Amino acid sequence: MPSARPYDVPFARRGSTLDDQELAAVTEVLRSDHPLSAGPWRTRFEAEFRAYTGTRHALSVTSGTVALEIALGLLDLEPGDEVVVTPQTFQATIQPLLDRDVRVRFCDVDPVSLNVDPGSLASVITARTRAVILVHYGGWPAEMASILRIAREHGALVVEDCAHALGAELDGRHPGGLADIACWSFHTSKNITTLGEGGMLTTDRDDWAERIDRLRNNRVDADFTAVAPPPGIEPALLAHMPYAEYVYRGTCDRHRRAGTNATLSDAAAAVGSVQLRKLDGFVARRRAICARLDEVAGALPDVPIRLQRPRAGVGHAQHLYTCFVPGGQERRRELVEALDRRGVEVQLRYFPLHLVPEWQARGHRRGECPVAERVWFEEHLNLPAHPGLSDAQVDRLTEAFADSLTEVYRSRPAAARAPQVARTR
Ligand SMILES: *Cc1c(COP(=O)(O)O)cnc(C)c1O
Repeated sequence: MPSARPYDVPFARRGSTLDDQELAAVTEVLRSDHPLSAGPWRTRFEAEFRAYTGTRHALSVTSGTVALEIALGLLDLEPGDEVVVTPQTFQATIQPLLDRDVRVRFCDVDPVSLNVDPGSLASVITARTRAVILVHYGGWPAEMASILRIAREHGALVVEDCAHALGAELDGRHPGGLADIACWSFHTSKNITTLGEGGMLTTDRDDWAERIDRLRNNRVDADFTAVAPPPGIEPALLAHMPYAEYVYRGTCDRHRRAGTNATLSDAAAAVGSVQLRKLDGFVARRRAICARLDEVAGALPDVPIRLQRPRAGVGHAQHLYTCFVPGGQERRRELVEALDRRGVEVQLRYFPLHLVPEWQARGHRRGECPVAERVWFEEHLNLPAHPGLSDAQVDRLTEAFADSLTEVYRSRPAAARAPQVARTR
């Protein structure tokens, strides 16, 4: 549904960034004599994605959410197992855990990157922790070297939610191959899209790739003991039987998980290939917009706004532009209202997940992640930064940001403008 108010600078793209190149790719698929599913375009898109992430396997699926559900299924969690997760993400990152009898521990985040903080991880991880599930928030890669070291010391697997991270770099590498498995989203709002919806799993593990391929293709995830010859049918008829290799796999003691159909269509995959070629341009545009916003704030030295300034070696993909407004809830509200009046759509992403009703019902409470809570309830906001913005919209955005900061902070005595000492509520 279109939002109630037409902003001059909307947070998300209106329409799409698809052009004649994607149109030509879809036309090629539709005019070909290949079936429209599991064909050569999907194979090609997956090969390109493997090359991009440097992983042994890339398996496409219908969404990032389905990728996460499948990935969590591979962890073979048992009742009583613990899983450490970030609270600062979209609900799809951790939602499948609601269906499992496991203990979830929320790990607090770094107050600037909003990524899992290695120090907090060290304090919540235990010998019972089977997995750590993190997100590269907004496209800023988490500190994977420290996180992996801590996880490995405790025998825990690490899942990367890379929904924001396409185009990001960490010390010369791309996210998505930095841990055990990674999940990607090609939803229309993400850094590239495959016709509005789509996702991918990347991993180096051959056994997991095989299980993913079964799960996404209506096969059951189980181990089979071969029985030969296949019983109950004349071998000459097997060639006429679709799925013979499925029915006559042998015997199975117990299945791990039921499969589903999560096949990304070839038309969508063909669009993905075109979009992947455009990725560098999209990310460059995002970075240019964010650099201008940082410049605006930096030019007002007595305005105590906090910016995201990654260390050297971190290439921020700028899926989100995030900044922090010290001074408590009131100051942030004033800034959001000032931007809103000037036609800029501000969003606050994401509400700390341990405090949504379904996780509170599992015993999670305020106080569990003081940094995530303070930042979300008092300080942080997200401004539009998508490549769908025209130059005129970017001018409008940066002017509105400068004017709003000036309005909110210049009308205040100097004492009120001084940066506040970090408080935990
Ligand atoms: C978008 C998103 C997802 C879900 O991806 P879909 O393709 O929309 O299902 C998961 N995690 C994060 C962090 C996201 O932003």
